[in-house]
Amino acid sequence: MGDIIAIANQKGGVGKTTTAVNLSACLAAAGRRVLLVDLDPQGNATSGLGIDKNAVTHSLYDALVDDVPLRDIIAPTLMENLGIVPSNKQLAGANVELVEMEEREHRLRRSLHEIKESYDYIFVDCPPSLGLITLNGLVAATGVMIPLQCEYYALEGLSELLQTIKLVRDGLNPALQLHGVLLTMYQHTNLSEQVVADVRTHLGEKVYETVIPRNVTLSEAPSFGKPIIFYDLKSAGARAYLALAREMVSRA
Ligand code: ATP
Ligand code: MG
Repeated sequence: MGDIIAIANQKGGVGKTTTAVNLSACLAAAGRRVLLVDLDPQGNATSGLGIDKNAVTHSLYDALVDDVPLRDIIAPTLMENLGIVPSNKQLAGANVELVEMEEREHRLRRSLHEIKESYDYIFVDCPPSLGLITLNGLVAATGVMIPLQCEYYALEGLSELLQTIKLVRDGLNPALQLHGVLLTMYQHTNLSEQVVADVRTHLGEKVYETVIPRNVTLSEAPSFGKPIIFYDLKSAGARAYLALAREMVSRA
């Protein structure tokens, strides 16, 4: 059985979705069977893979709230071995609707159970909050990947996130591990270098070797609905996510 990795940080704009889309595509390019679950009502992972989020017949909401099987929801992408469970703003309602439901933190886990054998990697792109939707991601996952932006407040909020992971492990999902911390948006400045050094000192081997540079190509690719490797394979961003994919495969 493959890994189910929640990409989470309640801080907004740190590179969760960019990582979810591009790492998924790079692993699919390496022949792995990959599923990306868009767990964010913003639907950025969905549109980043070229899907019109407001035109889909079914979305993750239908699985979480109405028990529609994921195999009826998974949409194809431009790569044969990369599927996506799309989301859109309808999912925002789930935060409220799930509260009343039985096993409300386990809805995503239950949905994934039927299909997880068909994938080597399942990535879950979490929204920037620690609410019930993200909790569903953490309960479904075997590992958490935490992107941290290389800026002054990088570590802010991290202890709260690590505490949440610990609570989930103690109560709802004993199998949950910290898969790793990913440094994103690195620039060749003293500040970025200082942040990298601090984070490596604090978190040691939990930090991936690969560091993702700030690269404008990475921010352009989503508007073309393409992962970076289909937009500009030679860019520094593409090379970085290919390196991260290699690092993950070699660690497995
Ligand atoms: P949210 O919390 O809103 O879901 P997020 O953590 O998913 O945000 P992204 O959407 O991946 O973050 O990135 C935030 C913005 O920064 C986007 O405009 C994205 O294109 C841009 N971005 C992400 N990573 C990089 C990078 N390495 N270089 C340049 N721009 C980047
Ligand atoms: Mg996002």
